[in-house]
Amino acid sequence: MYDVIVIGARCAGSPTAMLLARKGYRVLLVDKASFPSDHLSTHWIHQPGVACLARWGLRERLAATGCPPITSMTVDLGPFALRGTLPSAGAIAEGYCPRRTVLDKLLVDAAVEAGAELREHCSLQDLLWDGERVSGIAARSAAGTPIREQARIVIGADGVHSLVARQVQAPVYNARPAFQCAYYSYWSGVELSGTEFYPRERRGFGVLPTHQGLTCIVVGWPHEEFHTYRADVEGNFLKTLDLAPALAERVRQGRREERFSGTAELYNFFRRPYGPGWALVGDAGYHKDPITAQGISDAFRDAELVAEAVDAGLTGSQPLEEALASYEQRRNEAAMPLYEFTCQLAQLEPPSPAMQQLFAALRHNQEQTNRFLGTLAGTVPVPEFFAPENLGQIMGAAARSETF
Ligand SMILES: Cc1cc2nc3c(=O)[nH]c(=O)nc-3n(C[C@H](O)[C@H](O)[C@H](O)COP(=O)(O)OP(=O)(O)OC[C@H]3O[C@@H](n4cnc5c(N)ncnc54)[C@H](O)[C@@H]3O)c2cc1C
Repeated sequence: MYDVIVIGARCAGSPTAMLLARKGYRVLLVDKASFPSDHLSTHWIHQPGVACLARWGLRERLAATGCPPITSMTVDLGPFALRGTLPSAGAIAEGYCPRRTVLDKLLVDAAVEAGAELREHCSLQDLLWDGERVSGIAARSAAGTPIREQARIVIGADGVHSLVARQVQAPVYNARPAFQCAYYSYWSGVELSGTEFYPRERRGFGVLPTHQGLTCIVVGWPHEEFHTYRADVEGNFLKTLDLAPALAERVRQGRREERFSGTAELYNFFRRPYGPGWALVGDAGYHKDPITAQGISDAFRDAELVAEAVDAGLTGSQPLEEALASYEQRRNEAAMPLYEFTCQLAQLEPPSPAMQQLFAALRHNQEQTNRFLGTLAGTVPVPEFFAPENLGQIMGAAARSETF
């Protein structure tokens, strides 16, 4: 009998298992994959995510893998660009864009070091029930051997298509349609400082520095154009980069090192993340378009919140259901403003006249440009930046400036 079984051992599952194992719980961590392995995802971790790694003692480990720190960002709007330094999260000034082969292995190793028992190539088939309560898992090893294990709570960190969520019929809310589809790959020899983001009409693309001097480039199209995009991924990808000729030229100077990966399954929804004997964390409980690159940082935050709630419930300091209800509330309060902003950006619509005015006003206001970039990184709250008083100050400063 385990205290906790965690299904899925990547950004949400491994930290959840690690944090609970560090508190002394008997934790089983299972994944149908083995590690290191790649995953369908680009991988920019903003400063709030790095702050989690720092709290867990893993930031230095990540930095030591040779992943370039990211402190600056350019949003190229076509006629002009907004460039700036990304505001810190507390003492953490840098983000990273580590390959998932590196990051996920680092996280799973930390869970095992903390005392969690890892079973790779172990695929959840069914939840076990004791009446209305989840009481364990039925799984299968790579060799097809059936596995049955019991636990006080089963946590689904099994991603967007979570089997745990489907079996417990976790209610979905605040769902929005998928707005985008995206492909990405890796280039060598592309000069880059910081990250670059290029919103264009019905297109959006980003450029990120990662391990081994490679540059990850991701290009998004509207969801309804997926079949056209997929019919000629390379041609359509490169044609889209031509909307930013200087970038396209830099990419032509480099060399593509890997195949294209992509998906149209960029859903937007929340699920109720708990019930009798079960909880959900990471994409299993809350999924959004990757245009603002929040998934990994959110998974880290929610791993902390769910581990705290499970600990409170298992020690009896609070009824488990009550502690998990508070986890859901804290998750939603933290996630909601950026969720709405993300859904807005993912529609790849041209900026509204009001946004165009704002961008023009930011052009000569470095401090507020940095803060705007901080809304994308999750270090400046969206409601704070877009509060009427703040927008009024930006517009007022621009009106007073000779250069506006
Ligand atoms: C194209 C794209 C680009 C992205 N770019 C970024 C970005 O730049 N920055 C960012 O922060 N986020 C990004 N994301 C989002 C990010 O990838 C996710 O938010 C993050 O991976 C969520 O982590 P997770 O642990 O919840 O789920 P996952 O990383 O999906 O892990 C789920 C794990 O569960 C395992 N599993 C599933 N089913 C079972 C089963 N039945 N039995 C056993 N194991 C199972 C899987 O093998 C997997 O290892 C992107 C996503 C996409 C699709």
